[in-house]
Amino acid sequence: MIKSLKQLFEEYDGKRAIGSFNVHCLEMLPAMLEGAKEVDAPIIIQTSPGTAEYIGFDLLVSSIETLSERFEVDVCLHMDHCKDIEIIKKAIDAGYTSVMYDGSSLDIDENIKNTKIVTAYASVKGVSVEGEVGTIGGAEDGMVVSEENAMYTHPDDAYKFVRETGVDAIAVAIGTVHGQYKSKANINFELLEELSSNMKEVGIVLHGGTGVSDQDMRRCVKQGMKKVNVGTELNKSYIEEVNKTFSTAKPLTSLRKLLLPANNRIKDIVMEKSKLFQLL
Ligand SMILES: [Zn+2]
Repeated sequence: MIKSLKQLFEEYDGKRAIGSFNVHCLEMLPAMLEGAKEVDAPIIIQTSPGTAEYIGFDLLVSSIETLSERFEVDVCLHMDHCKDIEIIKKAIDAGYTSVMYDGSSLDIDENIKNTKIVTAYASVKGVSVEGEVGTIGGAEDGMVVSEENAMYTHPDDAYKFVRETGVDAIAVAIGTVHGQYKSKANINFELLEELSSNMKEVGIVLHGGTGVSDQDMRRCVKQGMKKVNVGTELNKSYIEEVNKTFSTAKPLTSLRKLLLPANNRIKDIVMEKSKLFQLL
């Protein structure tokens, strides 16, 4: 069934963090839901604004509807890191059930002001909203924030933001980095503890999940992380698999057979991460 982020938070409260996986191309989408089904987990499918334009908002929504029925999986379709309120409205109108307004590069009052426009528009349609306070390092959809310029979330800013905007979820900067796959992040667990114990009314979101060790990830989930984003690992693994198959392909080789190993790898990653996000 297609659900909002808030509905998933309520249903799986105390049971798990919910994996939010970036779909990069339509080919990998069935494998993602199949993986979630296999381990009996809900799944958030998230797109960057760029991917939504590439695949098409309508095609994404109808594909998710079809696949959620086929696999009988709880799915939320989420717009990740969007700085353009018009694109957010387009996603909501198309049938996304959750959107992220990323005003993290603005000052806190401007961020609050814009996020409120989004929560007002989304709430009428029962769509959830994620905001961001602090700056998560790394690259996302072509935008690069150097690790030195990444800034930890300031707790007082986060509390004020949540109080005034009415968001359902908040992305926090606690040391994770977008696009990190060669090394592991240094997580500030004290900050996470402080944030999660004072913001029980919203779901705290971890971005840059690929760069977090399994051990740290279990600790994050235990300390109250409710949504975990995984994008880089899917992109990187897909490329690794198709590099292997396409390098030996002939013009008449079945394209389907060339893509299948990559799709299977996506399914495995969704299964593995969804199990990791479960509270033991
Ligand atoms: Zn992110």
